[in-house]
Amino acid sequence: MIKRSRTSFAKRPRRKLPDLVLAVVLVLMGGTAAWVVLHKSASPVRAKERDARKPAPPPPVAICIDDMGYGSEVVEWFEKNRYTLNAAVLPGLPATAGTARRLREAGVEVLCHLPMQPADYPAHNPGPGAILLGTAEDDLKKRVREAFESVPGLSGFNNHMGSAVTAERLYMRWIFDVAKEKGLYFLDSRTTAATVAEEVGREKGVKVLHRRVFLDDIPQAQYIRKKLDETYDLALSQGFAVAIAHPHPETLKALAAQLPAFSRRVKLVHLSALPPPQ
Ligand SMILES: [Zn+2]
Repeated sequence: MIKRSRTSFAKRPRRKLPDLVLAVVLVLMGGTAAWVVLHKSASPVRAKERDARKPAPPPPVAICIDDMGYGSEVVEWFEKNRYTLNAAVLPGLPATAGTARRLREAGVEVLCHLPMQPADYPAHNPGPGAILLGTAEDDLKKRVREAFESVPGLSGFNNHMGSAVTAERLYMRWIFDVAKEKGLYFLDSRTTAATVAEEVGREKGVKVLHRRVFLDDIPQAQYIRKKLDETYDLALSQGFAVAIAHPHPETLKALAAQLPAFSRRVKLVHLSALPPPQ
């Protein structure tokens, strides 16, 4: 026992010493390798290369479906297609409040789709409760307030038609007084190039966003695909983009088919998440 133990004890250092040396060498080499890796990855050139390889984050895109409030079929579409979307509900209709509530429950951001006088009025009529030129300040503000109050849970509003009103500074000031009071943003559908909404919004402290693309001037799948590509390009170059569509059956069918892929290329957002224009 003693002999064997002494022998093994005596032999151990001779056999273990090279192992120990090797271990120390490996640790040192490992440390050196780790230092080289850390040092290289921390160098600005490497960091730049790494950033260039990193794919750009998907740009934010807000899609708003206008002209809601006529019936429940379209609401069912939103309940089935759960994307981060926005919808503008016409005020004062029998289905207005119910539509707004169900949309909110489906995670949709709700706007009041305020009817406003177009330039070719009365050939085109924005419908009951519309904001018309020639209305006195008190009446106009009352009408706007009633419209907003008929759409429960709204975050903002946009114009239904409105090419005449959005070009009139005085009327836009009155409308924005009420928007400010209610804490609402305005999405300018830009039905006229002469719109003064952005300027008046700045003056009144109301956030004004504007529509960049109408997705369904032709409610047809191929056209909508092209417009979604255009929206993506705009969002990439401008930082974000807002697109408007309408609840035509063809549009909704095309969006249901195309949003799965589109929503992977962009970050679909609510309008309230977007910054006002600089
Ligand atoms: Zn409309």
